[in-house]
Amino acid sequence: MAEFDLLALIHELGGNDRSDVLLGIGDDAAVLRVAEGMDLVTCVDTLVAGVHFLPATPAWDLGWKSLAVNLSDLAAMGACPSWAQLALTLPNSEPAFVRDFMQGFMALAQREGVALVGGDTTCGGLAISVTAYGLIPPGQALRRDGAQPGDYILVCGALGEAAGGLACLQAVGDDTELCDRPLALRRERLVQRLQRPEPMLAAGQLLRGRASACIDISDGLLSDLGHLCTASGVGAELGLDALPRSEDLCALFDAAEVVDLVLAGGDDYALCCTVPEPFVTALRDDLLGLEIEVHSIGRVVAGHGVNVLDSRGHAFLPRRRGYEHFRA
Ligand code: ADP
Ligand code: MG
Repeated sequence: MAEFDLLALIHELGGNDRSDVLLGIGDDAAVLRVAEGMDLVTCVDTLVAGVHFLPATPAWDLGWKSLAVNLSDLAAMGACPSWAQLALTLPNSEPAFVRDFMQGFMALAQREGVALVGGDTTCGGLAISVTAYGLIPPGQALRRDGAQPGDYILVCGALGEAAGGLACLQAVGDDTELCDRPLALRRERLVQRLQRPEPMLAAGQLLRGRASACIDISDGLLSDLGHLCTASGVGAELGLDALPRSEDLCALFDAAEVVDLVLAGGDDYALCCTVPEPFVTALRDDLLGLEIEVHSIGRVVAGHGVNVLDSRGHAFLPRRRGYEHFRA
């Protein structure tokens, strides 16, 4: 398929009906009207084949995930998503791939009211870069640098499940339990968490005005909470027993592996936030009222670094600390 036919396909599948898109796909650039008095929040994230996803990942899932990881960044800022741009680098002009990809992308875009307003299509190794835009009332964006000693550390969403899903996919030749239906279902759910993450947008918006700092967890809890602590100039103490351990993880992995996945597994896209004590109860009630999973896992302390304490208050030394690009 020629480049402009691919663009026509993207244009056809990427239709949108937001009235604040004055000019969308088809011109040299998009023209967007930012609602009067709102702050514009923007982020970009790239997924590269073999680095961020297994080459065999279904195109539909890639479409969903490439937008979801960006909406997760907007969620961590407390923003409402509005528009996205899609830069696709494709090894060939296979229309079936683009159609499936766009269906996954648009399924999430339409559910969240996001308009695809433009992008770029080039030839090369498979890579997907999405830029997302969101709006937030002035000055209300949640940042990483506001945590104070004494704040509670909350996690909205599940931990370790996506990394558990990846471990299941990578366990080649391990088909001993494939005939076991309940375990197969658990594996499928974990793989789904990896391939089709759910951005915690409603949670992020509830955190406005209450969380002192927030970050989305993409590289593992210890790593991303570490970034929040560094930005805020504080440390964190986590309770080993307070960490959420999902039933699916506990059924498929031994206890030490579960802790590794929860502390250092990537691709969670849960939100980790710090909340001053007076706001904790009402915030938890509001989150639970929307059926959003929330866990209180520790406290912010003076100093630096993230430490995990066991039930006797002794330091627990994690075996892994999280995913890093450009690791030495
Ligand atoms: P130009 O050559 O002026 O940069 P292009 O030919 O690359 O424009 O793109 C034409 C139109 O199609 C533009 O509006 C662009 O935003 C849109 N577009 C190109 N690729 C994509 C894509 N992958 N997703 C969404 N819109 C795209
Ligand atoms: Mg042009």
